[in-house]
Amino acid sequence: MDLQSIVAEIAAEMADRPDRGEVATYIPQLARVDPARFGLAVALPDGTVHAAGDADLPFSVQSISKVFTLAIALGRFGDDLWMRVGREPSGQPFNSILQLETERGRPRNPFINAGAIVVTDAILAGHQPRELLGEILQFVRSAAGDEEIHINKSVAASEEATGHRNRALAEFIAAHDNLIHEPDYVLGTYFHQCAIDMTCRQLARAGLFLTNAEGTPSLVGPARVRRINALMMTCGHYDASGDFAYRVGLPGKSGVGGGILMVVPRRAAIAVWSPGLNAAGNSHLGTVAAEILTRRTGWSVFG
Ligand code: GLU
Repeated sequence: MDLQSIVAEIAAEMADRPDRGEVATYIPQLARVDPARFGLAVALPDGTVHAAGDADLPFSVQSISKVFTLAIALGRFGDDLWMRVGREPSGQPFNSILQLETERGRPRNPFINAGAIVVTDAILAGHQPRELLGEILQFVRSAAGDEEIHINKSVAASEEATGHRNRALAEFIAAHDNLIHEPDYVLGTYFHQCAIDMTCRQLARAGLFLTNAEGTPSLVGPARVRRINALMMTCGHYDASGDFAYRVGLPGKSGVGGGILMVVPRRAAIAVWSPGLNAAGNSHLGTVAAEILTRRTGWSVFG
């Protein structure tokens, strides 16, 4: 069966599923998203995008932004970044504070909130927050080949108003001398990067640089792309990263807005969005759909 039919069939199957998970409720902008939404887009290195369902509706990418800030940080600091943040799966929820205490303010990996806050702090060096946000947006826009990607200011404001736990994480990291800037300064930028809105079509296209396929935007070197993929595979779904690797078999990064970005090295980038989350805070139907898609296409990094 051709790819467009597979994508359309999965979207149709997902539309009828009664089990949709629970939308995030910590800010009103996410709480009021319709759980019936489902979008899927598969971008190929030649620029073709196979899309279905709500693939052209923007959603809040949230933690998926951590992939782009990591790419910028690795481009700027290379392996020096690893002095400040680890690269081991955490086995903990996205906002856990537990390990920070025992590991003395060096977060386990760049995809849990604590690690992403350190990454944002690192790339803020020498920039005003507004400039850095411009750079992050520019990175994502060039990756997607689409200028119509913006920050949702009302989401950023709500994140800021309810960000007590992230504030606690940042203060804790600062207490261990692992933050260059003031916690609130870093968090303002972090909340805005999480508040980028994208459609599945834009996100799938933005993920193409992670495929290392010929003809895709070359925003970071091939060796670094492999490493980002390794981190997505091992740490991209918080304490459900093992389960995602087992069920889907592709590097992926989820966000609490219900999006997941996945990479099929050399072949495709996939974005799926369904706002209902499972117990680990990852898109419930997004994961189910990814599992079906990889089964039908045979795509897996495990052979
Ligand atoms: N802005 C969210 C937070 O920091 C991102 C979490 C996520 O997408 O997993 O709480």
